[in-house]
Amino acid sequence: SVSVGVLALQGDFREHAEVLRSLGADVELVRRPEELARVSGLVIPGGESSVMDKLARAFGLAEPLAAFVRSGLPVYGTCAGLIMLADTVIDGIAGQESIGGLDIAVRRNAFGSQTLSFETDLDVPVLGDAPVHAVFIRAPVVETVGPRARALATLADGRCVAVEQDNLLGTSFHPEITGENRFHEYFLGKVAAAGFRG
Ligand code: GLN
Repeated sequence: SVSVGVLALQGDFREHAEVLRSLGADVELVRRPEELARVSGLVIPGGESSVMDKLARAFGLAEPLAAFVRSGLPVYGTCAGLIMLADTVIDGIAGQESIGGLDIAVRRNAFGSQTLSFETDLDVPVLGDAPVHAVFIRAPVVETVGPRARALATLADGRCVAVEQDNLLGTSFHPEITGENRFHEYFLGKVAAAGFRG
C-alpha cells in the first residue's frame, strides 16, 4: 500500500491519520526530515498555522517541506494546512512564513474573531453530486486564486474555500472530523497517480 505522511508537529493530525488508515494507506507521522523522506504524499492538518510554522522551522523541516512541495509529490492541507501551503498569507502574525506552493492568497481567521465555527453544505463538483458537509473553525478563506490554481468549492457568497493546483489540494474546512472521506480519497488518488516513491 501507499505510505503517506501526516505532519504531526501540532494540530489535528490524529484525525487525519485515522481517516487515511481507514482508506487503506500506511500512515507515518512526520516530525523529522528523515520521516518526510520516506513518504509519497503528505497531509498538513488543521491547528494554528503560526505555531506550526515556528515548529517547522525549529525542527529543521521548513526547507524539506518546501522541497517536498516542489518535487511534485501530493500535499493536502486543511485549514492551518491550507495557510501553510499558500504563497501569500494575509493577517498572519508578525514574521509568519508559509511553505508556499499554492498560487493563492489566504486570509487567516477570515470569519472574524466572533465566529469561532460554523457548518454548511458545499457543492464540490470534482467529488461528485453529494454535497460535502463542511465544518469551519477559525477558518481562512482563499481571497485570491492565482492563474495556476483553481477553485474547487465556494460558499454561497462566492468566497473560495477549496482549491487544487497540480499535486496540491487545500480546504478551509475540516473533512477529517465529519466522516467525509472523499477529499482524502481524492488525495490518495493523486498519490497513486504520482507513483510510489522508492
Ligand atoms: N486560525 C488557524 C490558523 O490561523 C486555523 C484554524 C484551524 O486550522 N482550524 O492557523
